[in-house]
Amino acid sequence: MPVQLDDTDVAILKCLMADGRKSFRAVSRETKVSTPTVKARYERLVNMGLIKSVRPDIDLSKVDKRSKEEFGDSLQDLKKQKKHFHLHVDSDLKVKLKCDFCGGPVHGKPKVLKFGNFERFFCCVQCRASYKEKHGGRIEMLKEQYKKQ
Ligand SMILES: [Zn+2]
Repeated sequence: MPVQLDDTDVAILKCLMADGRKSFRAVSRETKVSTPTVKARYERLVNMGLIKSVRPDIDLSKVDKRSKEEFGDSLQDLKKQKKHFHLHVDSDLKVKLKCDFCGGPVHGKPKVLKFGNFERFFCCVQCRASYKEKHGGRIEMLKEQYKKQ
């Protein structure tokens, strides 16, 4: 089953789409979502592969249009921003996940592996186990870093 984006996710995406240089605090002010939530949601969207990277050269001409946009329109715009956002969103705001190990589509509920601030999604427990095995060292390292924060 694809992951459903909620209003908060879309608000944050819209905000970043207008200006990718915005700080989490600026996004928080605009979206009325707390800064830690913005940060967590942003990281989740990155983890889902929805945001590939936010570059500092996002087209600022899009900014003024933003306020008038409905959900659908803004998603179309998001899709056009493929250079900056790596989107797999269908029309009803569902994110199609790809397995982080085999790269295949995730059917049904994804198997999730959480470590530190990160979440990885897999098509099956086998892929999750293989990923863990392959990246064990890195996962432990990130867990340690997370604890120190
Ligand atoms: Zn897989």
